Amino acid sequence: MADKRDYYEVLGVEKSATSSELKNAFRSLARKYHPDRSTEENAEEMFKDIQEAYAVLSDDEKRAQYDRFGHSGPGGSPFGGFGSGNFNINLEDILGGDFFSNIFGGGGGRARSNSRRGSDIRTYHTVNLEQIYSGSSEEMELDLPVPCSDCNGTGAKDGKVVTCKDCSGQGRVRMRQQVGPFVQDVVRDCPSCQGRGTSIEERCGSCRGTGKSLKSSTLRFAVPAGCEAGTRLRMRGKGEPAPQGKGEPGDLFIEIEIEPHPWYERSTTDLIMSMPLGYAELVLGTTVTLKHIDGKDLTIKVPAYSNSGDTIEIKKRGLPRTRGSGRGDVIVLLKLHMPKKVSKKVKKSLQELKGDLGPDDLIERIIDDAQERRS
Ligand SMILES: [Zn+2]
Ligand SMILES: [Zn+2]
Repeated sequence: MADKRDYYEVLGVEKSATSSELKNAFRSLARKYHPDRSTEENAEEMFKDIQEAYAVLSDDEKRAQYDRFGHSGPGGSPFGGFGSGNFNINLEDILGGDFFSNIFGGGGGRARSNSRRGSDIRTYHTVNLEQIYSGSSEEMELDLPVPCSDCNGTGAKDGKVVTCKDCSGQGRVRMRQQVGPFVQDVVRDCPSCQGRGTSIEERCGSCRGTGKSLKSSTLRFAVPAGCEAGTRLRMRGKGEPAPQGKGEPGDLFIEIEIEPHPWYERSTTDLIMSMPLGYAELVLGTTVTLKHIDGKDLTIKVPAYSNSGDTIEIKKRGLPRTRGSGRGDVIVLLKLHMPKKVSKKVKKSLQELKGDLGPDDLIERIIDDAQERRS
């Protein structure tokens, strides 16, 4: 106990501090170090220290003893009463009820309605590139949970709910909590009714007390043009009904999945494809026409003497930008298509052409190629 910090120092007040100065100092430190909320590394330790210091200094008799003897009492007996007794500080009174609702709920008045809100539901919907080229209106059949009509979503037979006995309908209970050597009062959601304030004596037979039933629903929604995979569309109030029919239903999230296209790969708004062409087509050039995702023809002009690895950009035929205007491009990557096998006839022709097609001077070609790569 020799290294125990001075109580006044712990609270950061003068020895002459008035009781309201003590209380103010304790309040701001307790708010800072409350273990349920603090992000400080040593919060729990600090919280214990400030509670102990305040418990002693806020009690006139104990404060007088402490001022006289410090941490150790007369006769060598550790004045341990300070450190081992159960100090009952009502933190709620000092810190204010809103402090605790923030800890237990997540935002003042919203806390209570939050705990009664129905859960969100997630579902998936798959579209293809054609559908996101200019956006589309979708329809989807889904069994969605709705409040049970027999019990009005309460889960109780004939909708008869009774006041929770454990909290007298308050939904919250005051509990004593042991933190180290200290007992503190905290207010929490009533564990018997999960904060609802009501309970069920007899369950509804139709929904077995869940308060929910499934109803087939037709959902209509719009998939935005240029939408990315993983985009979530929110449909407010289409989620799970609130527990016991009290409070707001959750939301339904429709997560968009995009079906792979037979040849396009997507890179944000650009569409990338590879075009395997024969040697003759690369040398002579060619024109290829494909059906594009906009329903129109896409004409790809491959110039003569194209190389494997060259790209051709066809401007503004890609996907629309979701922010701002305009579209991405279609990017065609040329590739030399190597046949797995050629006929005898082709082989013979190639033999004849070999001298004309092959490099004139191999070494010169190797050097040229290396230089091209470097530049
Ligand atoms: Zn209760
Ligand atoms: Zn029911």
